Order: sequence, then C-alpha cells, then structure tokens
Amino acid sequence: MSSLIELTLAQALDGLKTKKFTATELTQAYIKATEKCRSLNAYIVETPELALKQAKESDARYASGKALPMDGLPLGIKDLFCTDNVQTTAGSNILRGFKPQYESTVTAQLFRDGAVMLGKLNLDEFAMGSANITSAYGNVINPWSGSDPANAVRKLVPGGSSGGSAAAVAARCAIAATGTDTGGSIRQPAAFTGITGIKPTYGRCSRWGIVAYASSLDQAGPMTRDVRDAAIMLKSMAGYDPKDSTSVNRPVPNYLDALEGGIAGLRIGIPKEYRVDGMPAEVETLWQQGIKMLQDAGAEIVDISLPHTKYALATYYIVATAECSSNLARYDGVRFGQREAGKNLIEMYETTRAKGFGAEVRRRIMLGTYVLSAGYYDAYYLKGQKVRNAIARDFGQAFKQCDAILTPTAPSDAFAIGEKQDDPIKMWLNDVFTVPVNLAGLPAMSLPVGLSANKLPLGLQIIGRPFDESTVLGIGAALEAAAGFKALPPFHA
Ligand code: GLN
Repeated sequence: MSSLIELTLAQALDGLKTKKFTATELTQAYIKATEKCRSLNAYIVETPELALKQAKESDARYASGKALPMDGLPLGIKDLFCTDNVQTTAGSNILRGFKPQYESTVTAQLFRDGAVMLGKLNLDEFAMGSANITSAYGNVINPWSGSDPANAVRKLVPGGSSGGSAAAVAARCAIAATGTDTGGSIRQPAAFTGITGIKPTYGRCSRWGIVAYASSLDQAGPMTRDVRDAAIMLKSMAGYDPKDSTSVNRPVPNYLDALEGGIAGLRIGIPKEYRVDGMPAEVETLWQQGIKMLQDAGAEIVDISLPHTKYALATYYIVATAECSSNLARYDGVRFGQREAGKNLIEMYETTRAKGFGAEVRRRIMLGTYVLSAGYYDAYYLKGQKVRNAIARDFGQAFKQCDAILTPTAPSDAFAIGEKQDDPIKMWLNDVFTVPVNLAGLPAMSLPVGLSANKLPLGLQIIGRPFDESTVLGIGAALEAAAGFKALPPFHA
C-alpha cells in the first residue's frame, strides 16, 4: 500500500477515476502514514473516523459516475481553519477545546469538491512565527532533519507558521494541505521542506472562518507536492464569498490550462534590492540558476527595482501587530475556549489572556496596542500605511516592465530548533523576501529548486500581478520542469 502515498494529487485522482484503487484504500494508507509520522508532531488532531466516512461517500460517488474535482483526496487542514465540530486551536492554549459550529468557506469548498480530512495540522500560535516553535502544542520537526550526516543530530524547524502543513506534505502523511500566509507562512515553510506553496492574491480565497491574525494580509492557499497539484487545489479553494467583505467577485480560471502554454516571451523581473546582507552565497547561486532556467525556457530577463523593499519588514511588523492586537481582543475567556478564574470580570480577562497566550503572541499584542495608541498612531501606524502604499506602488511600476518577478523565498535553508529563538528580530528577518508580497496583496509561489550544502531544500519565489495566479503557475511549471527537484526527506512515511 505504501506506493499509494507516493502519488501526487493529480496521479491519485487519475487512479481513483480509473478504479485502480478506492478512496477508502487511499485514505487508509494515509491514516497509516499519519501514525508513522507522529514523531514529527505535524498533526494536533487526527480525524481518521471522519476521513473514512468521507472516503466511503467518495467511493459511492465514483461508483455512480458522479465524482467531484477533489474526490477522495486525503488532506491535512491547518488548524487555523474552523472545522465544524472538530477542535480548532490556532496553535493556542486559549482555544484548547474549542469546537466551532461552522465550517470555514475554504474547507467547505474543498469538502464540496469531495476532499477527505485527515486531521488538523500544527502551526505557530495564531500563525505568528517562522519556525513553528510558538505552538502551544509543541514544535514540529522538519522531516529533512538529519539529511546531512555531519549534522545528523540537529533537529530542524519546518518553517512557519504553516509548519505542520509543510512537514505533513513533505513526509507524505497528507497528499496536500491547506496553509495560510500573512507574511510568508505558506512560502517559507514550503521552501524549508522542499514542497510547493502558493499564496493567492488578497481576496482570491475567502477568509471567512479562518482564525484572523492580520486581516488585511491573511490569505489561504494550497501546499502541495508539485505545481500541478497546487493548480488543482487552488481551483477548489478560490472564489467569491459574500460572507467575506474583502473577497473579490471575479471568475476563477481553470489553473491547469496555465501549465500548458510555456513561458516563451514572458518578461521576468529580477529586483536588485533582494540581495540582503549576510545572505549565503548558495542562495544567490540558486537564484542565478533559476534565472538561467527561465531564460533557457524562453523568458526574457529584465532588471527591476523595488526601492522601498528595505522598509517592508518594519512596515509589516507595524501593520500585522496593530491588526492582531485588535483581532485577538475577542479572546476574553467569555466567548471561546479557555477561561481562568478571577475575583472580578477584569481580573478574569487578565488571567485568561495572560495564561492563554504564549510569549510571542503577547509580545505582538503589546506592540500592536502601542503603535495604535493615541500618541504613537501617527508616528507608527499612519506612517506604516503610507510606506505600505509605496511598496505596493513599487510593484505596480515594476509590472510595467515585467510579467512576473523571481526571487529567493527565504534568505537561508532550514535552521535548527532553538536557533534565532533568543532574538525575535533575527527570527523576523527570515521573512524579508516574503512580506512585501502580502503588503501589496499579490500572488506568489515558492517551489523547490535545489539543495543547500547541508543537503536541505532551497526554494525560489515567483511573484505575479494581482489575480494573475495563472502566470505564476505557468512559470512555476517551467521552473519545476527545468529544476527537476525530486529529493525526498530522509524521514517520510
Ligand atoms: N513569519 C511571519 C510572522 O511571524 C509570517 C507569518 C504568517 O505568514 N502567518 O508574522
């Protein structure tokens, strides 16, 4: 049965359609795989009974010739998506035991299309982090740990915040997974684990029913084994939702069509500002290789400038903390999850929030309330909004000269658990190439292109124009074909 979990989502769909195996068999293989991978701590909750029930329904549809677009595919769901009657924690103690009575729009659409849920995947608390070390449910281990014998004992982070999603897909204990990306949380963990992840344009996928971190930046997206799988899964996840006022009412193209056309004549921008101090030479080398691959595939390379890039991290941490301090005000011990006793109402709020939130979340709430406070609002928050607009304008200008942009995804390969942990700024620097995209609301994808000297995956990022996921996927398909990245992590199901 182990060969079933080797299939990509597209191959599995094919096998199901041609009745080579059933959805129940595929799901059983993945349930075994999740058990085998428990040491990675990728899942917070496994839902095997639900998965088997959904698989059975899927088999009935296959039998009656009424199969759906994602029928019988066993997915892991990031535990930031509210799932009806299945515990949803956002990686936080404050939501321990919270069972929503509703389904997020994105997961509802995946289930509408026949997908099966294996369980809820670990993440940084409220999606705040780059290493999956802020989860109240423990670190996730990167399945690439130990891939370099010289570093065999180093336990590596899978990246974050969608660390459980990335680890599960890389280790083959989910055929694909959902992620969310506020400042890089799909793309950076995808890069650290050798998988593909796309953050769609802001407004492309509904945010309804996803636990909010920073509402003007958050987007859901697929995390998959390859570009084709991302195209299939994005089609199901995307679409207008009247329940989310920032959802955009535009038709969702058939993303698979985008993979066929080739990239001849497309102009790829290379931003000179994406060379940061201290970036390892191997990341620069990989970037140059990626440029060459796209050139060989017929693209034209153009130098571009994104002059406000250097302000992006500071701006992000003003905007994101401001919004999170407001979004997380709702966790007061009354409406959701955990409550701690107090002598009066105020003390109950205080003890609940002090005990319920971890250190990183508290740090960000404090920063956010600070930048929003009367004396500092103009100096920080308003200025941050202006710089945000300038960053978005940079991209607008650049897209007059090019059709998409190629950059590294992260400034390093996966680091060890414990590294960067004593210094939040060092951790935040890891997001340097991903946050500008969220500030500008653009689509961007990371895919694995090579290995580092430590034999760990390195990813490149393709950034597109608003709502032009198709071009991003098309370029991704070309880069994937040229890079031929086939390496598997040393630990997998
Ligand atoms: N690492 C970034 C942060 O900590 C991004 C997280 C995300 O995209 N959710 O905020």
